[in-house]
Amino acid sequence: MSEKDHLKENELDFREVTEDGKEEKEEKEAVTGEVVDKSDDEYEKICTICHRPESIAGKMIDLPGNMSVCQDCLQRSFDVMSNGQFDYSSMMNFPGMQMFNMEDMNQAIPKKQKLKKKKKGEERQPILNIKDIPAPHKIKAKLDDFVIGQEHAKKAISVAVYNHYKRVATDTMDDIEIEKSNMLMIGPTGCGKTYLVKTLAKLLDVPLAITDATSLTEAGYIGDDIESVVSKLLAAADNDVEKAEQGIIFIDEIDKIAKKKNTNQRDVSGESVQQGMLKLLEGSEVEVPVGANSKNAMVPLTTVNTRNILFICGGAFPDLENIIKERLTKQASIGFNADLKDKYDHDKKILEKVTIDDLRNFGMIPEFLGRLPIVFTLEGLDEEMLVKILKEPKNAILKQYQKLLALDEVKLDFDDDALLAIAKKAIRKNIGARALRAIIEEFMLDIMYEIPKDDNIGQVVITKAYIEGTGGPRITLRGQDPILLENSNG
Ligand code: ADP
Repeated sequence: MSEKDHLKENELDFREVTEDGKEEKEEKEAVTGEVVDKSDDEYEKICTICHRPESIAGKMIDLPGNMSVCQDCLQRSFDVMSNGQFDYSSMMNFPGMQMFNMEDMNQAIPKKQKLKKKKKGEERQPILNIKDIPAPHKIKAKLDDFVIGQEHAKKAISVAVYNHYKRVATDTMDDIEIEKSNMLMIGPTGCGKTYLVKTLAKLLDVPLAITDATSLTEAGYIGDDIESVVSKLLAAADNDVEKAEQGIIFIDEIDKIAKKKNTNQRDVSGESVQQGMLKLLEGSEVEVPVGANSKNAMVPLTTVNTRNILFICGGAFPDLENIIKERLTKQASIGFNADLKDKYDHDKKILEKVTIDDLRNFGMIPEFLGRLPIVFTLEGLDEEMLVKILKEPKNAILKQYQKLLALDEVKLDFDDDALLAIAKKAIRKNIGARALRAIIEEFMLDIMYEIPKDDNIGQVVITKAYIEGTGGPRITLRGQDPILLENSNG
């Protein structure tokens, strides 16, 4: 065979291959039909790096993983590599490399995710110096300005807080380590549990975090992790770890994490939460996310020691009264001095007789109760207390309305029987002092709307009839006979 023939043969071979290829494509087209054509027509490749489409950036080079890169970007990448310029800004152009750009990182992390720096060279100053901790009677006197009634609770909390901060300030006393004074408050809803703790934290100028135990679940389940309470405190302390470590955490609705009875499922929001909290209550180092409620890759973590954090738990513990009653009647029904069965039915102070055993019967686990050594109860509010709440505290609701109307130079007064009528209405709602605001707002709406209309009005007196819907308020015009005024404030 001559050389020419050989070339011809090769050419033929080549043609055969292309023809094969063509055939293959035609076969493919036959199978997939229009799809092949359509995908070619309707979609164009986009450069993974510069995000320009093929129509603008020119032909794309296919990379594994369905990625395409335009020739410009590929060239640029080679240039960077060959010049040894591995700086972040150029690396940023690689797919998936953006996260390494530290400048971007800084911008992505909001300020609230940054920790307060510790001041160098400065001695660590406790927020409350042992000499500055107000004595219990002083703490209680301050609480009296805001919280009505609840004498026992105020006394108990003042002593506990005093001891707690004495412990924090001294750290330890020789060999005798003072135990943490975590507290458990029991009282019906709206009787001032949260208000008491809030007032206390404000007086002492310590950060306070308030959480609801119902939202907590064992780690890994839907709901907040138990440790989220500490990150809330950190946020309340402006991300200042040292400040947070001496703060107060109030966990409301603690009765909702009682052990569920008769269940064979995993109790992720009950007993498990109690167990998960043991470590926190006692004092341990916890890793908490800064500026977020849950841990994830983009949130920085910090360590907070809960040793000096005061935990106050509160709950209404419905049915606890029946448990106490049952125990008392059982005790009393033995022997000659047996009491009548219904002796405790009308005992308003039955809750005060609570024991650790009663709480255990309610569903709190002994280890949990053991870490809350101070247990006290708050009383339900009666009419007299509600009237006082309306007018006596430093920021009483009535005072707030009086101040608002005083800005319009209108004097606002309430008849005593009107206040009693409000209290009665509130008691019927069965949500404690919380009902007061709603009731007052309901009938003050008209007053606040109508009074500014008329400049001549000098005084408004809210009457019982107005509260009960059988009459209106007494209004006195400016410069009118003072006799009307005399009648007004009964
Ligand atoms: P709870 O016991 O359910 O936590 P709160 O403390 O939230 O109830 O009370 C609701 C509101 O009622 C408070 O914001 C406060 O204004 C008022 N209040 C309740 N109890 C008292 C009280 N003893 N003295 C003054 N205000 C009170």
